[in-house]
Amino acid sequence: MHYLSTRGHASKPSFSEILLGGLAPDGGLYLPESYPEVSSDELESWRGLSYAALATAVLSKFATDVPEADIAALATKTYTAEVYRNARPGDDAAAITPLRTLEASGGRKLVMQALSNGPTLAFKDMAMQLLGNLFEYTLQKQGAELNILGATSGDTGSAAEYAMRGKKGIRVFMLSPHKKMSAFQTAQMFSLQDPNIFNIAVKGVFDDCQDMVKGVSNDLGFKAQQKIGTVNSINWARVVAQVVYYFRGYLAATTRSDQKVSFTVPSGNFGNICAGHIARMMGLPISKLVVATNENDVLHEFFQTGVYRVRKSAETLHTSSPSMDISKASNFERFIYDLLKGDAARVKALFTKVDTHGGFDLSGKPGSDGDEFSQVRDYGFVSGKSVHADRLATIRDVSARYGLTVDTHTADGIKVAREHWEEDIPMIVLETALPAKFNETIREALGHDAERPAGFENIESLPQRFDVMEADVDAVKRYIVAHTGL
Ligand SMILES: *Cc1c(COP(=O)(O)O)cnc(C)c1O
Repeated sequence: MHYLSTRGHASKPSFSEILLGGLAPDGGLYLPESYPEVSSDELESWRGLSYAALATAVLSKFATDVPEADIAALATKTYTAEVYRNARPGDDAAAITPLRTLEASGGRKLVMQALSNGPTLAFKDMAMQLLGNLFEYTLQKQGAELNILGATSGDTGSAAEYAMRGKKGIRVFMLSPHKKMSAFQTAQMFSLQDPNIFNIAVKGVFDDCQDMVKGVSNDLGFKAQQKIGTVNSINWARVVAQVVYYFRGYLAATTRSDQKVSFTVPSGNFGNICAGHIARMMGLPISKLVVATNENDVLHEFFQTGVYRVRKSAETLHTSSPSMDISKASNFERFIYDLLKGDAARVKALFTKVDTHGGFDLSGKPGSDGDEFSQVRDYGFVSGKSVHADRLATIRDVSARYGLTVDTHTADGIKVAREHWEEDIPMIVLETALPAKFNETIREALGHDAERPAGFENIESLPQRFDVMEADVDAVKRYIVAHTGL
């Protein structure tokens, strides 16, 4: 299988060739030339597979230049009950993404699929843990090394560090805003003592950290010499690893492959739900893909109106579901490419317009950039929005009705899922974090602390290892050189 750029660049790389990279050379995102199809017989044959075996079956369709036995070994090492050990009491950790029926009444069924049982208690571990093993495997084969530079406001940085810790040939340099993350998030990252993990606390805000990463990445000579890479959410392997749990969720919620399910996904960068879109394109019987946003409703606006209008950093609100606080959705271009039936020239024009004019309009109204909004429903997409008061009310309601504490992002999902429930079609809400990560809001909603999984009880009192730095591109460059010796 070969990959193409959503903006039409002529090269057609393989899975391994795009694994360690980010954007295509023309600024587009990578997609497979065509989506592999899964027949209902094949889907049926996957019903009894373990998570690791299912991951092998799905990944083998995309990573055709990696021997299947190697994929199986990597998946088996990644998807274990030991790695995903933070399952709730009563849930089966060996299922990796266990399902829990919240409500079944009449023909209606509301189910939660736990994706946040990995080491950092958020769904990003689902893909990042595999990426750590895939990167190590690929680098060893090439005799190469990689220095990952990233900026984080919380979840992504810790997922990357826990995935890459102790991996041969890999170092992680992670910038975070000094004293601006929650105590729990800070402790999670800074308590890591692995010599290949470097936490850099920048005297500034998240945008300063991101500007420093951009500043380093724009120096192509430095980037090549220091073997700098990234693991941001546009990485294709991350998206593909996420496709697996849509299959798992479907198989766990149905008994026959002529049944349908819907998924509701708390969304920010459109990475998670993009994987659901791909699963649906492969033939998974998904009725609706419900995009749930918070107050930062760029995506909800598009799915309501056909107008995609990105926000400025200053317009991006800080909310109590902070991992969905985005101003533009970096994976959205992948869906637009499919919506435009692979017209790369138009995709390029639209996303150039995002940079120059702050968005585009596919509503079909006079003066718009196209009328494809009318076809969005054919892809199953609908949306909804949840704000702080909804979040609190949902956390309380879920606690009262089902005796369960859910995190703020998952609460946004549940609120929106209820708006799109259909008779006889199970609605699966993806749980994207455990509540312990966002305890401040749990206290506000319930008046008590969220439960902490075993091993996290005293995380804030562990010794912390980090360096403080001014928001200065040259300072981070000097730091990297000093620690890589390259
Ligand atoms: C990253 C994240 C999201 C958003 O996922 P996207 O792939 O960016 O849409 C939602 N919830 C939590 C807890 C996250 O960490």
